[in-house]
Amino acid sequence: MSEIHPLIRRVDPTGLLDELCDAVYCVDRARRIIFWNQAAEALSGFAAGEVMGARCSDNALVHVDAQGKSLCQHGCPLQHTLGDGEKRQSELYLRHKSGHRVPVLVRVSPLRDLDGTVAGAIEVFSDNSTRHLLGERITTLERLAMLDQLTELPNRRYLEMSLALRHNEQQRYGWPYGVLLADIDHFKAINDRFGHEPGDRALRMVARTLQYGSRAFDMVGRWGGEEFLGIVSHVDSGQLSALAERLRALVQSARIVSAADSIQVTISIGAAMAEPGEEVDHLLRRVDARLYQAKANGRNQVVA
Ligand code: GH3
Ligand code: MG
Ligand code: MG
Repeated sequence: MSEIHPLIRRVDPTGLLDELCDAVYCVDRARRIIFWNQAAEALSGFAAGEVMGARCSDNALVHVDAQGKSLCQHGCPLQHTLGDGEKRQSELYLRHKSGHRVPVLVRVSPLRDLDGTVAGAIEVFSDNSTRHLLGERITTLERLAMLDQLTELPNRRYLEMSLALRHNEQQRYGWPYGVLLADIDHFKAINDRFGHEPGDRALRMVARTLQYGSRAFDMVGRWGGEEFLGIVSHVDSGQLSALAERLRALVQSARIVSAADSIQVTISIGAAMAEPGEEVDHLLRRVDARLYQAKANGRNQVVA
């Protein structure tokens, strides 16, 4: 065996086993349970005190295969490993304390005495169910439904939902919020000059700059084409203008540099605080008019 690091020498092996994320238990040659870790408790529902000393064949775990056939008398992976000292792995089902079957991936290794004889076996079992896959699938679907594919920012639907929430909070609790509508200046010319794909990269650059430049609890999303909407809560009009001005300056200083060229864009921003009782549509019309004003005034500026 290779040199053992002093840190590893100091580790308490039982404590380590107890803290592993995978469920672990050990049996002696008679298949009596001599160790049962915390993850085993969590996965099976049985506390260590309930199973220690019991034989795994007569405790409530009762492994079965996919056909429901009990594996305790024939086909118990622990028993096989106790017999031949070989490691093995199988997919089977254990019975949870509350009765249901839990699919587990079981890996068994021999526990050897110092002289090498098989004195017991260790079984590591982990949740083999697709429950976690369901969770992952929902997140993927949510991402598809709520995030803009190009910029990975909240999409228009997500922004509209957030606006409705902020509007509600303002009505009920008087919590103030404001919005920023930003539009890239002369973006058609950027596409014409550099091409559509570099144009997309410029859009992502602006998206990231706006996202990282705002506070974590504000929301910036893609409103459409080259327009972004920021929803900013718990600010007054001065703070909203200051944020808009900061974002404008940050975008102006962002730049994609490649061997061939360097792409830089500016944005114009309209900003407005929601008036008490103002409907979202009305607020959006006001920021749109301010954005138009910023364009008319010469672009790369904020009208708030
Ligand atoms: P202004 O300063 O008045 O906003 O000028 P502009 O050229 O930005 O405005 P206009 O609305 O005429 O053009 C917007 C352009 O944005 C046209 C469109 O091709 C481009 N655009 C919209 N969405 C995308 C996209 O997803 N990718 C790329 N590359 N371009 C896009
Ligand atoms: Mg536009
Ligand atoms: Mg534009």
